[in-house]
Amino acid sequence: MATKLHLKKNDVVVAVAGSDAAGKKTGKVLQVLAARGRVIVEGLHFVKKHVRKSQERPQGDIITKESSVSASNVMLFCPHDKKGVKVSRTRLEDGRVVRKCKKCGHLFD
Ligand SMILES: [Zn+2]
Repeated sequence: MATKLHLKKNDVVVAVAGSDAAGKKTGKVLQVLAARGRVIVEGLHFVKKHVRKSQERPQGDIITKESSVSASNVMLFCPHDKKGVKVSRTRLEDGRVVRKCKKCGHLFD
C-alpha cells in the first residue's frame, strides 16, 4: 500500500505512539523514508549502535543514533493548537497544494 506521506523534511511533529515520548515530545523531521513509510525525527528515537574498531576509533565505540519511526506514530504539530493534528490537503488559489489543519485551518507550507 503506497500511501503518500503527509510529512516533509523540516516539519515539526509530535510523537503520538510507539515510544515513551508519546504526546510530549516534538521534533523536526530530518529525513522522510517514503518507501518505508517512516521518518527520522530529531531527538525523538535513538538506537545504540556499536561502532567497529577503526583508525578513528581504535577502541570501537557505542554511539547513539537517531532512528526512524513509523510515520503513523507521529503527527504534524500545529503551532496554533499546540498539539499534533490531522491534516487534509487543500489547493490554494495559486494552484499550490498545501496541508491544512483539520482543527483550526492552519496552513502548513
Ligand atoms: Zn491547528
